[in-house]
Amino acid sequence: MSHLMPAAFVGHGNPMNALEHNRYTDAWSSFAASMTKPKAILVVSAHWFVNITAVTAMHVPRTIHDFYGFPQSLFDVQYPAPGDPLLAQRIVDAVQPTYVGLDEDSWGIDHGTWSVLVHMFPKADVPVLQLSINSTLPFEYHFNLGARLHALRSEGVLILGSGNVVHNLRLIDWNSPGQGTDWAQRFDHDVRAIMTSDASGLERAGDHRDFELAVPTPDHFLPLAYIAGLSAAANTPTRTLVDGYEMGSLSMTAYELRAA
Ligand code: ZN
Repeated sequence: MSHLMPAAFVGHGNPMNALEHNRYTDAWSSFAASMTKPKAILVVSAHWFVNITAVTAMHVPRTIHDFYGFPQSLFDVQYPAPGDPLLAQRIVDAVQPTYVGLDEDSWGIDHGTWSVLVHMFPKADVPVLQLSINSTLPFEYHFNLGARLHALRSEGVLILGSGNVVHNLRLIDWNSPGQGTDWAQRFDHDVRAIMTSDASGLERAGDHRDFELAVPTPDHFLPLAYIAGLSAAANTPTRTLVDGYEMGSLSMTAYELRAA
């Protein structure tokens, strides 16, 4: 029987989490410590949200500092993990007839990925690939593509979605550390009820009365669709890895998917 690697959705929150140690980053590193070392890591990051589906295929992906207004120490972070061009090609083949392009020179490792991986795998010695989120396609496409990635889990590939279930930067309240507004809590709670029972129902979150506030743009929510697809493909619900709210309008909830 082949071993199935875990998968997870991580709420990455503020990029400064890369430099901090808190109960979220502790949960991420404990999660990594609880598994056999993956052969590679495939990340669906909120921060590679473009009009095409592509997978990074360079030997040496660059560390991308895709933010501004943060301390120099954050711009100094490098995550020098190698790529894995052969695995990128295998992913392209595995998800056919869905078309995925090979990105040999455009993207790399963005902060949605490295702000989490610096805690999970600080040595940066596991190859890292990113899969872009195609902004032109509906929820169902992302869920189904996630399900198609299921076979990679038995090949030793750790699959991560990195975003935030509730992510409304316009309504951030810097005076509310560790707190979530009532609508943020309602939405996060109801998404959790789906993810921990039958993740194939995640699309229903789009009908939630707080959806427009919690998900004003789809980029940080859609990485969860990939983990929901994997969960449905494995017929195994996810479990809450860590939860919490920040600045009123962010949820930091993370979900892990493990063999039943
Ligand atoms: Zn983000």
